[in-house]
Parts: sequence; structure tokens; C-alpha cells
Amino acid sequence: MALIQITEPGVAIDPHQRKRGAGVDLGTTHSLIAVVRGGSPVTLPDASDRHLLPSVVRYESEGITVGYAAVEAAREDPFNTIASAKRLLGRGLGDIADRKQLQNYQFTDESAGMVKLQTISGEISPVQISAEILRVLVLRGEEALAGRLDGIVITVPAYFDEAQRQATRDAAALADIPVLRLLNEPTAAAIAYGLESGDQGTIAIYDLGGGTFDISLLNLQKGVFEVLATAGDTSLGGDDFDESLARILLHKSGYEGELDAISRRTLLLDAKAIKEALSQCGRVDVELSLPAFSWSGVVSRSEFSQAIRPLIETSIKACRRALRDADLTESDVKQVVLVGGATRVPLVRQLVEAFFKRQPLSHLDPDKVVALGAAIQANVLVGNKPGEEMLLLDVLPLSLGLETMGSLVEKVIPRNSPIPVSRAQEFTTSRDGQTAMLIHVLQGERELVADCRSLARFELRGIPPMVAGAAKIQVVFQVDADGLLFVTAKELETQVKASIEVKPTYGLDEAEITSMLRASVTYAEQDVQARMLAEASVDAQRQIDAVTVALDKDGDKLLDRKTIHHLRKLVDELAGVIDQQNIDEIDNVNKRLGQASADFAAMRMDASVKEALSGRHFETVAES
Ligand code: ADP
Ligand code: MG
Repeated sequence: MALIQITEPGVAIDPHQRKRGAGVDLGTTHSLIAVVRGGSPVTLPDASDRHLLPSVVRYESEGITVGYAAVEAAREDPFNTIASAKRLLGRGLGDIADRKQLQNYQFTDESAGMVKLQTISGEISPVQISAEILRVLVLRGEEALAGRLDGIVITVPAYFDEAQRQATRDAAALADIPVLRLLNEPTAAAIAYGLESGDQGTIAIYDLGGGTFDISLLNLQKGVFEVLATAGDTSLGGDDFDESLARILLHKSGYEGELDAISRRTLLLDAKAIKEALSQCGRVDVELSLPAFSWSGVVSRSEFSQAIRPLIETSIKACRRALRDADLTESDVKQVVLVGGATRVPLVRQLVEAFFKRQPLSHLDPDKVVALGAAIQANVLVGNKPGEEMLLLDVLPLSLGLETMGSLVEKVIPRNSPIPVSRAQEFTTSRDGQTAMLIHVLQGERELVADCRSLARFELRGIPPMVAGAAKIQVVFQVDADGLLFVTAKELETQVKASIEVKPTYGLDEAEITSMLRASVTYAEQDVQARMLAEASVDAQRQIDAVTVALDKDGDKLLDRKTIHHLRKLVDELAGVIDQQNIDEIDNVNKRLGQASADFAAMRMDASVKEALSGRHFETVAES
């Protein structure tokens, strides 16, 4: 596959007028903005020189606070202070498996659609919360670049599905920020390290953040990053290290009573600070003074390491799983990249290095690397690098297709196709006189509708009535650079058209994607058999229906008795073999019926098309 170049239409570059582009890492725990300055990407600090913005938003009656100030407020105002909203983006209540999150907030009771949270400012959706974070960051970017941004690149996890990507885009739209594109986080990290210009091969991106762990295996081929596999743990991250350290502290202090809520929160914040210090030093002096108790003493790195080792081993297991899914071994991995603040913990580096048997790339700040890569992309996309408008392309995580007769899925765009991509396929009607068609869009790898995820349904109406198979319906699947899908169906004769922007209410989570991929491999054989039988039966039944209807309608007009009798006999015979579920026999009799009725069908088709066209105005026909 050749490198695909995309230029922004109409963007002629005046060398004196640089465009303002920025990359945003909209993280679960922290968010950042970065821009390219003097040829290098840099993250932008706030007025107090802090580069990371905690992804926490507090709603008050007088207004909204974002970041550090909101973190402080979480203690006294938990229900109005929302952290980790990213976990809720594009999700319904039923999709949220994380019980901690369910306990922390008051969700409004909605059976369909994305979750909403009850706050002092009313019902707030995760899209609004993300929009507030984006606003603060973009303001920072505008101050640094002295002007309105022309566009930003926002990063998303590789496993984010259509709904989650759409929700991310909606957040930017709500904040009135132009989005150049969404970029997969692991791809952004690889770009920050300049890996796209290196040799082709497999790259592992190990991302341990505050509350999530993701391992992504990317295959780099001629500038296109293909996601080979993703795995991870949506409830594993630096926060768990804080909990482990808090337990150590409690144990050492000898305190055995119950902890009140404020003591617990304070202990966790202290533990976090100590954990971060232990990444630099072998021992840390600690002074705790909580409402519940006070304690002073020393904590060593080795005590901490021992406590968190099982957690890190869980992440290594996920790495092994990802490799297995991609049918690779550790030695196939050419580069390992560390991402996420929690990879600063020395034992994490040590165990990752031991597993992959190579030293991971880590010289860029692991909590900034995603934003840096996004900034590089944004700078290219706004058009500041004429002649270098090459885009690194991501690929579609799961195949997209349509439901066809027999509850089968016809894949229109296969998984791992580089995006943006557009594919057209022609379909036809299955019944005589059919004037409407239900277009059912699905995502997944399996052959049967029931095993894939339903994304959207819409109807194409106004198809001129013709015999089955005469109408030509062109269905176009278009996936833009962000992985968002648009589907259009058009009847080619009349140009009647229906389209839909696919915005599913519920998305898939990473575990679902992984299990769907795995299932597609496991069930491949069984699926092929099921598909062949279903296809053969559908084909045969369609032919039975078509021939029967045609005989009833035009048989006497166009055929002699003997032919009619022969055709009816074949129809009965075919119905019989369908019942017996014998693929070969079905195909065989179906073929015979097809041959026997071919002339009849041609005669009818001529008559029908003439008839269908005769009733319409000249202009409509000429247009097509
Ligand atoms: P996310 O991608 O989830 O937004 P980050 O990549 O910002 O998260 O990682 C946040 C986590 O990294 C927190 O748990 C934080 O305590 C941890 N972290 C940051 N710096 C260090 C450090 N020096 N040592 C250990 N952990 C750190
Ligand atoms: Mg992150």
C-alpha cells in the first residue's frame, strides 16, 4: 500500500503566515496541549509552570473550575467534581463496568443514550465535561501562539469505537474548536519518537496512566501504522500504586481503626507524592498528619516495589495476550515505547525491559509524549510543512459491513484498512416490486448478524418497482480520518438517496473488541460452514420466490404449458433440498432452476424496465 498523501484543499501557504496548530492529549487523569515551536514540539505550561492539567472539572453555582483547583475541591464536593470523565465518553449506563465510578457520582436514570451526571448545574454529559477541559487547554494554546488556533489534533485510545470517537469530536464542537483529526494515542507516541521514518516492523506501546493500562502493537509499513492488537486493563494504573503505598503506610503506622473519608483521601494524596518521589530516590522520609492519626518514618523503594510487583505482572500478562492475538512473539517486537506517568516507576521499566528483552524508549517525558506526537501531526495538517503533507494513517479496528438476506454480514470495509477509506458496493432488491430497502450497518468480524455489533439502521425508500434483482442500489461506506463512518445508499436509476452518519448510542469497549477479534479466529471454520449454508439457502429461496411470483404473474402471458410445469417441478424440488440443509444439493438444484428460468427472466426484465421508465419525466431519466 503506497503512502497516501493528503493536502488540505485550498490551503496555499504564505511563508510569512504560519498556521496555528496544536496537539491535545485528552487523558483520563491528565490532559495536555503541545505545539511545534522552532521545529520541535513542546508542551505548554499554565501560569504556575505546570504542564499537566488534571482532567477534573468542578461544577459550582457560580461557575466551573478545571484542573488543580477542582482536584482540591474533590474532597468536600465529590458529586459536583468529576474526574475520569473519559471513561464515560460515548457510553451508556450499561456499558460502565467500573463500579468505583458508579459509586462516585450520581447518574441520572436514563435507559438509552450516553450517561449523564447530576450536578449542582443540572445534568451534565461527559461530552460537556471534556469540552471544558479542551477549552482551558486551547486557551493556553491561543495565548502561547498569540491567536486563534486553526485546528487541533486530539488523541484517543486505539480501541475507542465509533461512539467514543464521535463523543470526543462532539466535545470539541461544543467548545467551538476546529478538529483536524483524531489520532490514536499509541500512534502519536510513535510519531513523537520519529518511528514512522524508521524501518518497518512491530512497535509495542506500553501505556500505564493513572487508572488505565493499554498495550498496543503497531505494525509500521511505509508510513502507515496498523494496529495489530490492543489489550490492557481499564482498572490498572498509578492510582493502584497509590493504594498499595497507602496500605504500607497504614501498616507501618500501626493504626488499625476505620479511616474517615477525609483521612483516606489525604492518605492517598500523600501516598501519590511519596510514590513519585520513590521514582527518584531509594528512600523517602515521611510525615503523615491526618485527622485520624499522625506518623513519621521512612519508606523504601524496595518495600514499595514488592507491594506493586503483582500489579505490574498483570500488565505483562496483557502484553503476552496482545502478542498472542497478533500471532507474534516478544522477539518480533522491534521497539518498545513507554507512555504514561506511571512508567516512571523503576520496577515498571525493569519488568517491561525483561519481558521484551530490549530497552524501551523512554527519553521523552512519558506523560507528555502523546501530546508531543499530536502536535507534530497538527503542525503538518494545518499546512506548515509544505511538501511534507504526508499523513500517518491509522487503520480501522474492526470490519464494517451490511446485513444481507439470511442474517449474514457482507463486509464492505475489512478491518485494518488504512483510513480515510471509501468503498462502494452494489446491492439489489430481493423481491419483485420492492420499493424500500433496510440498510443495517454492522461492525465486527463474524459472519452472522447476531455475532456482530449493530451500529445503525436506515431505510432507502422510493426505489421504482421492478422485478427482483433489476434495481441497482449502490451503498457507499466512507470512513474519515478520525474513524467516523458515513453510509449512503443510492438507487442508481432514479438517484433516490438516503444516508446516515453513524452515531451509535452505545459503543464497544476494549475487552469487547478483543473478544470479538478472538472469536472471529476461533469460529472462522464454523462460520464459513454456516455462511455457506445460509447463503445457499437464501439464494435458493430467493430464486424460488422470484420464479413463483413471475410464473403467477406473467407465466401464462410469456410461456408455454410444458415450460411452466417444468419450472414448478424444479421449484418444489428446490424447496425440498433446502429443508434437508445439504449445501451441494441446494446449489445443484438451484443452478438447474436458474438455467431453466433464464430466458423467462430476461423476457420479464425487458418488459419491466420499459414499464418502470415509461412513467417518469424525461429530466429524471436524463440525470442518471
Ligand atoms: P493518564 O494517561 O491516565 O491521563 P498519566 O499518563 O498522566 O495518566 O499518568 C498519571 C499517573 O502517573 C499518576 O498515577 C501519577 O501518580 C503517575 N506518575 C506521574 N509521575 C510519576 C513519577 N515520577 N513516579 C511514579 N508515578 C508517576
Ligand atoms: Mg494517557
